Amino acid sequence: MLVQKVLVVGAGIGGLGAATLLGQRGVQVEVIEARPDSSVLGVGINQPANSLRALAKIGVLDECLRVGYSHSGNTFFDWHGNLIVDCPSRLGGDDVPANSALSRAELKRILLRAAESAQVKIRYGVTVEDLTDEGDRVLVRTSDGARDFYDLVIGFDGAKSTMRALVAGPGHDPVFSGYGVWRKTMPRDPSVTNTLLFQGDRTKAGVIPLSEDSMYLFLVTPEPGNPRHDPADFGTLLTERLAGYTGLIGELRDAIDGPDDIVYSPLSEVLLPAPWNRGRLIVLGDAAHLCAPHLTQGAGMALEDAVVLVDELDHGTDLDQAMAAFTGRRYERVTLVHDASHAILTGEMAIDAEALPAACAHMREALPAQTAAVEDALNQPF
Ligand SMILES: Cc1cc2nc3c(=O)[nH]c(=O)nc-3n(C[C@H](O)[C@H](O)[C@H](O)COP(=O)(O)OP(=O)(O)OC[C@H]3O[C@@H](n4cnc5c(N)ncnc54)[C@H](O)[C@@H]3O)c2cc1C
Repeated sequence: MLVQKVLVVGAGIGGLGAATLLGQRGVQVEVIEARPDSSVLGVGINQPANSLRALAKIGVLDECLRVGYSHSGNTFFDWHGNLIVDCPSRLGGDDVPANSALSRAELKRILLRAAESAQVKIRYGVTVEDLTDEGDRVLVRTSDGARDFYDLVIGFDGAKSTMRALVAGPGHDPVFSGYGVWRKTMPRDPSVTNTLLFQGDRTKAGVIPLSEDSMYLFLVTPEPGNPRHDPADFGTLLTERLAGYTGLIGELRDAIDGPDDIVYSPLSEVLLPAPWNRGRLIVLGDAAHLCAPHLTQGAGMALEDAVVLVDELDHGTDLDQAMAAFTGRRYERVTLVHDASHAILTGEMAIDAEALPAACAHMREALPAQTAAVEDALNQPF
């Protein structure tokens, strides 16, 4: 192992994954997290097979599968519930199902327990104040007054990363896509046994099963100007944006009775040029590559980053070689996910009511092959 003492910035999905893998290999790992506690948004997350394989490496696959809902892929409909095309997933195999979705709170609980078992120490409400790469070690001063040396600092600090600029310099802030996603956890409708997607008039709705009892409803919408919506208005705004949907999504809209449990997320994107490290600093996950959630691959890419980095640190000959090997294994795969997610987002949002019949015909023709091309690549070992 090329490092003995590591600081991970951010106790999110990727940060906890990396910290656990390092801790399991005897590395002394400290994690600092800006939030005051371990709470997460009350929504769900889909984990495709490649992400489940990363969770297996961390040793938490069985628990994730036990609390989640395994499912086979995506079925596409128009906004009145007319079937466009069923795309059974080509992900997965004998080792893992194609997908398993679960609540973010459950995933966080599972990852935190694994980190604790690996002797990882987490400090909440703490950020980096100052950081100096001295060549053979990094001196870090944190907002709680601590000052210490580390062999490596890993920035897993998400979309609003401050580590990103320390590694890549200025000019790499995420760019707002023009779109946002509304999400609400609801009781699972018995018909929802895989991801169901509904193409509307410049919007797209969907439902993903999270457990026997719950599922989440989402809606992707144009949000020109990146407005700051008042959470008190979330119920009204989501209901308005779902106008025009009939069938299942119309029924779910009519069941919305206020802003509770609704989460709104503007969608932004960034893809740092390679490499994602500068000396002994590296950024990973959303901090390095933030993409639209349309392939549900964000956490999977973060967890894969963690697995590959630790693998290279474990088997590399020196740090520079390990970082170069890491980049070689990650850049193309992450770029595929980033670009494909962007293309799906912008393609779907360009479809208006008038274009919908022709778009549905095109989707019926093209989607199975397009999905297969991306999934076949992602089902390859990372
Ligand atoms: C609408 C939506 C739906 C999505 N659905 C899915 C899905 O179904 N499947 C999927 O795989 N992905 C999905 N994603 C993406 C996924 O949530 C992210 O890609 C994933 O969480 C990235 O992991 P991460 O560890 O890089 O960042 P995060 O999980 O965001 O963790 C970053 C952590 O760093 C902390 N932090 C921030 N700044 C600092 C700082 N300065 N100092 C210390 N700590 C800091 C944050 O508080 C946070 O805890 C979705 C995203 C969106 C927006």
